[in-house]
Amino acid sequence: MSRHCLNCDGSAALTRFENEVATIEHAGLSAIVENLSGWRCAACDEVEFDADSAARYAASGDALVLRDRERQRKELRRIRRKLGLTQVAAARLTGGGHNAFSRYERGEAVPLPAVANLFRLLDKHPELLKELG
Ligand SMILES: [Zn+2]
Repeated sequence: MSRHCLNCDGSAALTRFENEVATIEHAGLSAIVENLSGWRCAACDEVEFDADSAARYAASGDALVLRDRERQRKELRRIRRKLGLTQVAAARLTGGGHNAFSRYERGEAVPLPAVANLFRLLDKHPELLKELG
């Protein structure tokens, strides 16, 4: 069976691979997905997983994103409490509406990087909180 790459010019042949292991990384977290099979382009390295491998690879990536969000959520709550802020006061500081922090901490919304970064800075330098309105 001969297949051709749809990613480059279409003339490069794909070669079969079986039983490979991939490491997926996201935000400093990593997961290992085993027993992957599919086709790889020798010219551009594009990979086309078999359906089962593609589904497991995607699920693993999704799980990493969820783990990262869970971690961010707990970190945000820990820092807010450390700073002695209510959810409403924290939301007043960062915008996004008075329910914003409640929604972040329940995982119903993902804070902008600016919010996460500000709280990370305040975690290291809590004395700077008094500089903020
Ligand atoms: Zn290619």
